[in-house]
Amino acid sequence: MLIKAPRGTYDILPEDSSRWQYIEKIMKETAEIFGYREIRIPIFEHTELFERGVGETTDIVSKEMYTFSDKAGRSLTLRPEGTASCVRALIEHSQYGGLLPIKWYYVGPMFRYDRPQTGRYRQFHQFGVEAFGSNNPYIDAEVIILLIEVLLRLGLEEYELHLNSVGCPECRGEYRQKLIEHIEPYQDRLCKDCQTRYTQNPLRVLDCKNEACHQAIEGYPTLFSNLCDKCQEHYAKVKETLIENEVSFMHDDNLVRGLDYYTNTAFEIHIPGIGAQSAVGGGGRYNGLVEECGGPDLPGIGFAMGMERLLLAVDKLGEKFAEDKEPDVFIAVMDPAYESQGMKILQLLRKAGIKAEKDYNQRKAKAQMKYADKIGARAVILIGEEEVEKGFLTLRNMRSKEQFQVDPQDLVRSVCKTLLID
Ligand code: AMP
Repeated sequence: MLIKAPRGTYDILPEDSSRWQYIEKIMKETAEIFGYREIRIPIFEHTELFERGVGETTDIVSKEMYTFSDKAGRSLTLRPEGTASCVRALIEHSQYGGLLPIKWYYVGPMFRYDRPQTGRYRQFHQFGVEAFGSNNPYIDAEVIILLIEVLLRLGLEEYELHLNSVGCPECRGEYRQKLIEHIEPYQDRLCKDCQTRYTQNPLRVLDCKNEACHQAIEGYPTLFSNLCDKCQEHYAKVKETLIENEVSFMHDDNLVRGLDYYTNTAFEIHIPGIGAQSAVGGGGRYNGLVEECGGPDLPGIGFAMGMERLLLAVDKLGEKFAEDKEPDVFIAVMDPAYESQGMKILQLLRKAGIKAEKDYNQRKAKAQMKYADKIGARAVILIGEEEVEKGFLTLRNMRSKEQFQVDPQDLVRSVCKTLLID
């Protein structure tokens, strides 16, 4: 039986990989310009890290993790997201002992057992950043501006930035109680999940995907109107800085991060027009997380972007991306006896940075020329009997069809000249 890739996973074939390389390059360049440096974290971690770092009541941990026991009986999990690993690495290597803030980015695959559909996979890729060690609202703004800058550099100007503040444990604690009291009389109109979670984690009702839950709790007290002075000030500064830096956003009362260690700024970016899964990224501040994972009381903020959805957006709405994968030069040998000479010329050109290719399937001379044309070579170097006897090479411009003799000593220069005027 034919073995296929597991459901929810897919191959990135060479004809697609250049698009991936392109968006990765933009992400990395932008992050580096903003002063973030790359961290590479393991693909799997101890299950407990995600239970603590993402939260046991979240969908990710309760339903979607790829968890397995290794041969020594340890419970391991394929990473469903990157923040928990970054926090673990920060603590494990005592990185917080140096200069603050610490600014990291990561790129790589994540794994969640969810129902696959367009824009939702079981193995998907995220680009994310984390900034540890500052509670300054300007760094919240920096992280958001960085995310928007990536979109702009990809030609994606039509985005919707949803913004909210989830307060601090103090003001949120009081708010939680108010919200539970508001929801209580309407609890039987909630979906099954919300009926059980509204007492433990009432904020989750606010971001429930079920419209009926939103209708049931209409007129609920908002988090925004219950923020303490400090949290209000923080949120106002973030918004002001975004406005000053020409980043448009909309305040969204329903945007919450349902875990205790999330604090203040929460945000999500949507690109309308890419289908049902329009969220391309989300993030927020998590001042309690480092401590929750066994580290010092160190604030943090970050985001993660879904690369599949970004590619979808780039294909539909972004700048057209020009691929440049064709070889510059093809070496055609008219007789197998000249193959070793062809091989040497190939290496000479490649060392000079010229994309060069030759035949490896013993095609006849004419078929080699056809092949060169098909793969899009811009020039061909011919090595035939006359060339070998008289010690020159024939260089053919495949667009103008002109060809001329060149001195092998001067080959690189001649090739460059031909490619330039082509
Ligand atoms: P989250 O870590 O859930 O906040 O997700 C951050 C971003 O990752 C989302 O906005 C999506 O763009 C992307 N994402 C999350 N889950 C998936 C998935 N199963 N497949 C594809 N992209 C995803």
